[in-house]
Amino acid sequence: MTDGGEKAGAGYLVWDAHACLPLHEAADIRVLERHRRAGCSFVSVNIGMDMNPLPQIMKVIASFRRQIAASPDMLVPVRTVADVETAHASGRLGVAFDLEGGLPLQGRPDMVGLFAALGIRQMHLAYNRNNALGGGCYDEDVPLTPHGRAVVAAINDAGILMDCSHTGHRTSLDIMAASTAPVIFSHANPRALCADGRNITDEQIRACIATGGVVCVNGVGRFLGDHAAGTPAILAHVDHLVQTYGDRHVGLGIDYSYPSGGLDDDPPGLDKDHWWPPAHGYVGGLNIKIAPPEQLPGIVEGLVRLGYGERALRGILGLNMLEVARRVWG
Ligand SMILES: [Zn+2]
Repeated sequence: MTDGGEKAGAGYLVWDAHACLPLHEAADIRVLERHRRAGCSFVSVNIGMDMNPLPQIMKVIASFRRQIAASPDMLVPVRTVADVETAHASGRLGVAFDLEGGLPLQGRPDMVGLFAALGIRQMHLAYNRNNALGGGCYDEDVPLTPHGRAVVAAINDAGILMDCSHTGHRTSLDIMAASTAPVIFSHANPRALCADGRNITDEQIRACIATGGVVCVNGVGRFLGDHAAGTPAILAHVDHLVQTYGDRHVGLGIDYSYPSGGLDDDPPGLDKDHWWPPAHGYVGGLNIKIAPPEQLPGIVEGLVRLGYGERALRGILGLNMLEVARRVWG
């Protein structure tokens, strides 16, 4: 590594199914060194949400691709599971992109294949609010629409991960019934432990497992029921899933948001109260505590102390998601 930094938790392949950088072409992607140093081997980085205009998303993709290619000492662009294994074996961090919401497809399912060609390896259909594809989790509970159904098929055809985070209850169940490939929740916590609308029910978790998918626990304070986003709360959510559903369908998607660094990535005219509704307890958008990458070594240690056994531990930390990706990405 350029700085000679040692990775923590060496030996475990740690898969973080979702993180956010500033959605700005000037964002420095080398801040992901914090993920690498914390022992991560793969992270899926968001490149856009339903509220972001397509030109913003395209500039972010172009910038992140260029910066990853220019950082072979630290980062590995990920298209396949072999790329993740290469990153892990060399102590580097594999990076792929994810899309949060289907509005950037501009009404065209064939845009999924284009985004896949640009490095997107995971997407969900609706970000918190209903759209032309289906329901968001903070809106009226509506079914998957015919357009949404066509996008699910396009996601299956493109060989990228179908995600149901941020998605409404009915729509998520419809997606999981329609998908021909495993469906994941890349960053969603069990509602049994914390009654937020972003968290998912027993019915959703069982439907996800029935597809062969994985539920990845996030480190967002308000979704953990611990506004400090402490490691014990994250471990409690993991342990609830393991004790209730077994260890083979549990993963991590911490959802850390890197600081803006003074960059303004809000789209013009952004209505924060629409996307993060005050009726659901938000105050002026998403200003909440999220567990930073530096908590990852403590999460690993905590899971070791829970005594799951080596196979289960490796699965939860990364191999459960790796195996789903092996099936979906091909
Ligand atoms: Zn999200």
